[in-house]
Amino acid sequence: MAVVTKQSPEGGNDVSPTPPPLPGPTTNCRRKGLFVMNNGSVTKGESTAMRNMWDNLFDGGFRADVTITTDNGGIIYAHAAVLGMASPVLRGLLKQAKGSGRKRSISIPGVQHDAVRVFIRFLYSSCYEQEEMKELVLPLLVMSHAYVVPRLKQICEQQLEDGLLTLENAVDVFQLSLLCDAPRLALISHRMILRNFKAVSATEGWNAMKKSHPLLEKEILESMIYEENIGKEKIRESNEQKIYLQLYEAMEALIHICRDGCRTIGPCDKDFKEDQKPCTYAACKGIELLVRHFAGCKLRVPGGCIHCKRMWQLLELHARLCADPSLCRVPLCLNFKEKIKKQGKKDEIKWKMLVKKILSIKRIGGEPFFVSLNSISS
Ligand SMILES: [Zn+2]
Ligand SMILES: [Zn+2]
Ligand SMILES: [Zn+2]
Repeated sequence: MAVVTKQSPEGGNDVSPTPPPLPGPTTNCRRKGLFVMNNGSVTKGESTAMRNMWDNLFDGGFRADVTITTDNGGIIYAHAAVLGMASPVLRGLLKQAKGSGRKRSISIPGVQHDAVRVFIRFLYSSCYEQEEMKELVLPLLVMSHAYVVPRLKQICEQQLEDGLLTLENAVDVFQLSLLCDAPRLALISHRMILRNFKAVSATEGWNAMKKSHPLLEKEILESMIYEENIGKEKIRESNEQKIYLQLYEAMEALIHICRDGCRTIGPCDKDFKEDQKPCTYAACKGIELLVRHFAGCKLRVPGGCIHCKRMWQLLELHARLCADPSLCRVPLCLNFKEKIKKQGKKDEIKWKMLVKKILSIKRIGGEPFFVSLNSISS
């Protein structure tokens, strides 16, 4: 049997009453409603004894003064004092209950008899069998909410979170957690449904919900589409970022090759040194190949070979990013700057957007060769 720590009596009216003292030398050390040893701790033996006594009181029904009727004619005997202390709702029910003399009767309908028995027993000893919890966690959650027994509700939520929530019961748990005001559990079960939609939508719970709460089904389906779209959007954004980063690196490498020379290409106004340090520019090799191709290609016209077309685009992009064409060694930089002045408004907006996005990849790294991001008017 799982042992649950009792709440302190200061926690409110909805807690189990303090058990009576045990015989023996420790009975005088009363503090905050717990029976303590001199070092302040409850021994295992003592807590087991307390628990057993409360269980025995429930099981034996000694001087029970309440009859609880359950579905299908089941009856459970209990003590009004215990029920009233443990649950404010039961206390209210007992006040209104009819009965002869001091004997009163209340009913807890809509839940199977066994679940009511486990629930009432918990009010006595704060204990439950793990097997019973496994089987009855959902009705226990409902009762703990309906009769305001926060400690049991907390245990049920924790138990579901720790493994009792399954693909099979996820839809039921989701619906109940909405009804029982358990937002964390609602979120966890909702997430489980979305992540395992195929399996969950084949369960009985899903089919039952479709019939009883079609709006809820619609909401779940909509949230699934929404999450899918968010996922797609994230992938699209990260792919886009990769492209801007590649373009940024290509721009860096182009300036580097035209200014310093690298591998097989020397700068136009310096001697080419063969014994250079290893190159650190990520895109250098690719740009080097492209420049070599561009220099030798017979189809070197815009709209000709795809490699040349790419080179034209990179040269134009460079001119748009270039901070000072008068010092720049990249071919055609000035020519493009002139061409840009004559371009249409639509083209201008398109290019400015691209330049902004590329510069925002690495805000600092490009200066002084690239224009600053702030200098681009929108
Ligand atoms: Zn290089
Ligand atoms: Zn070509
Ligand atoms: Zn330039």
